[in-house]
Amino acid sequence: MQEDVVGTNLRAIRAARGLSLSGLAALSGVSKAMLGQVERGESSPTIATLWKLARGLELPLSAFVEGPVEAGRVEGGFAYRTVFAFDPAFGTETFEITLGPGWEHRSEAHAGGVVEDVFAGSGEVEIGVAGVWQRCRVGEGVRFAADQPHGYRNPGPVPVRFCNTIHYPAGKRRSAGA
Ligand code: MN
Repeated sequence: MQEDVVGTNLRAIRAARGLSLSGLAALSGVSKAMLGQVERGESSPTIATLWKLARGLELPLSAFVEGPVEAGRVEGGFAYRTVFAFDPAFGTETFEITLGPGWEHRSEAHAGGVVEDVFAGSGEVEIGVAGVWQRCRVGEGVRFAADQPHGYRNPGPVPVRFCNTIHYPAGKRRSAGA
């Protein structure tokens, strides 16, 4: 992979914070070896790793994935692309997520006070929060507290697409340069 946008962003953020690789490893729970590989573009981090970095650094996901190179990511039956990058004025970022047939994507808890909205576009999607699953039909929205383990799954036989907006509480918003 050449000119990896996540690696470039991560290196810049770490430098701006004056953090060592060990310091960032301690903050995020991502190993120092993995951080080095990501920064050098030798390894493409999983979504779960990106969220650990986001949480550890108190940054939105957009801070890592936005850039001229990154057009979206695919991981098995899970794919996303950025619709609106994080805007500190509003404290939100929005992604379009596609789940393959029967696919389930799990997410660890985000930082305290983070709320997510899911708006079902092309088909039904199910949202699980703390082990309780709820159905979101086409045209419906589900809002949930995302500071606990949660998941998204496609119960149907064809891929589904939905919008996912993440709200960061006021006072805990940082942009990449801040
Ligand atoms: Mn989430």
